[in-house]
Amino acid sequence: MADGCRQCPRNCGTDRKQACGFCGMPKDIWISRCAPHLWEEPPISGTRGSGTVFFTGCNLKCVFCQNAEISRDHLGEAITPEALTERMLSLAKEGVHNLNLVTATHYTESLIPVLKAVRAQTDIPIVWNSSGYESVAVLRRLEGLVDIYLPDFKYIASELSSAYSAAPDYAEVASDALTEMYRQTGSPVFDRDGIMRRGMIVRHLVLPGCRKDSIEVVRHLARLLPTDGFKLSLMRQYTPEFALHTPYKNLHRRVTDFEYTSVVEEALRLGLDGYTQGKDSATSHFTPDFHEKQ
Ligand code: SF4
Repeated sequence: MADGCRQCPRNCGTDRKQACGFCGMPKDIWISRCAPHLWEEPPISGTRGSGTVFFTGCNLKCVFCQNAEISRDHLGEAITPEALTERMLSLAKEGVHNLNLVTATHYTESLIPVLKAVRAQTDIPIVWNSSGYESVAVLRRLEGLVDIYLPDFKYIASELSSAYSAAPDYAEVASDALTEMYRQTGSPVFDRDGIMRRGMIVRHLVLPGCRKDSIEVVRHLARLLPTDGFKLSLMRQYTPEFALHTPYKNLHRRVTDFEYTSVVEEALRLGLDGYTQGKDSATSHFTPDFHEKQ
């Protein structure tokens, strides 16, 4: 990063030895939680959990973020690449189905040697779990190191991505990123127990008052990628508690049955396959406790 950091599409060029850019983090890797997690999609969590590493800070910082304690308030601690490698290998030894790097985009360069070291010692699948706001050039550096991509595709309308994530170019950037992810992994591959070994699951969180944009997201994904080239995870776990400070009144309530069901119906009509969530998922119970001792 001699010329400043350009690891994400913010491209802000910050010298992270001296200051923090939009992502809010210095050059050192910071993590907030490293533990098995049972609340990912079924082929990721399986029966033994996904070995999640939650990274501190975020390059998107959505106003409704359910993990604001770590993305915006930076709860976490610095860790060396060597110590992180050990933590990941020890998670793998616990029997989790995969190692799941959550919101790691702003540390990609520092994580490449970590992923190489982990891969040299275990064949457990590596999951790259991200907002979808990634640059293709940086994603190419992960080729051969990541088995499963788990990106979001959050919005089509620039008005929404500007207002909620300060990223007017989100749809365009995420489209290119998902195309590159699909190029690297190909279509989903599962083991005999239904656990994912390779491929991509695209997540979309249905937001209150944004039903039409969600339907456009689903249509866009069906045009962007082969319908059997990815699984779609339609999430209804949006909880307003994290957005009550914002001026966006629509974000101060939960998603209605009509809003969620109409997006699911459009996905089914388009022949997309994947995962849905029940109404009981819309609770902060599904947000990990980042204060818990690990
Ligand atoms: S990762 Fe952070 S510092 Fe680097 S370009 Fe993105 S926002 Fe800027």
